[in-house]
Amino acid sequence: MRALVYYGARDIRVSEVEKPEPGKGDVLIRVIACGICGSDVHGYLGITGRRIPPMIMGHEFTGIVADTGEDVNDISKGDRVTVYPTRFCGSCSFCKTGLTNLCINRTVLGVMDVNGAMAEYVVVPKNTIIKLPNNIDPIQGTMLEPLGVVYRAVKNAPNILNNSVLIAGAGTIGLLLLQLVKLAGANPVIVTDINESRLDIAKKLGADIVLDPEREDIKDALSKLNIDGVDVAFEAVGAESSVNQVLNSVKNRGTSILIGNSQRDITVNMQNIVTRELKIFGSYTYTIEEFKATMDVINRIDTESIISKVISLEESPRVFEELAQKSSNLLKVVIRLD
Ligand code: ZN
Repeated sequence: MRALVYYGARDIRVSEVEKPEPGKGDVLIRVIACGICGSDVHGYLGITGRRIPPMIMGHEFTGIVADTGEDVNDISKGDRVTVYPTRFCGSCSFCKTGLTNLCINRTVLGVMDVNGAMAEYVVVPKNTIIKLPNNIDPIQGTMLEPLGVVYRAVKNAPNILNNSVLIAGAGTIGLLLLQLVKLAGANPVIVTDINESRLDIAKKLGADIVLDPEREDIKDALSKLNIDGVDVAFEAVGAESSVNQVLNSVKNRGTSILIGNSQRDITVNMQNIVTRELKIFGSYTYTIEEFKATMDVINRIDTESIISKVISLEESPRVFEELAQKSSNLLKVVIRLD
């Protein structure tokens, strides 16, 4: 089969590899569409250490069941599906309370050395398969994965009805967050990014205020609104500057939800956290039940404005390099395989 194989930093090529076989309890999926995640681009650059070459990336995808292994009963050839990309054990203390995202034995499809879905076929365990409803098309369906991340992050936040919210980062996650917090009644919603075209999309998708933190001081912008800081801030970049921006923009006792995950060590102002009694939470992916819940949310969200383009597998090495450029205006790119 054809697959996009990651061979090392900035070296990714379409190669002929062996088609995987479904073992006991596994399902073989013919991939229709797979999104490129920001973490895949970081992996491509070889900076996170979370992609061990040679391997196949890809965890945001939809497809059709092509074959089933032994001991698979309620899934049939031809079913349209998406996949919860975390393989979880089902028996650890976290799985037992439904926190499959925090399973201590977890592995993630298309991460480290586990082959993912930027290929014609991928094998996954049956307990991670979710049937795709007919009203979700396969390209839109690739957005269920980032939507899951956002769904959990909003669930991890305190009530945001009529409260002020700041979102740092207007990439795919930030723009989905914007729409979910608006649906939950947040007001006003401020979105920050250093890319003007992303801010334009944020404005179009309902942001009350957009601003570039390198050009405009956020404290000044908030004081113009007569706000002493926002109630809740979400960090969707993962960089030191944006984490500090979030911690500085919340009001005393305000809540910061950290989602971005690209830098291991950063420096924060500890006294700012202690003397203002800030609350800080991490939010990591989503549980399998939260993933199922996104099926009911996705049709209330504009995903078309976030998908910049749909490309072929052959075009994908060039587009990975384009996504890696700081000047890129691309948001979500989806690889179509059928
Ligand atoms: Zn577990």
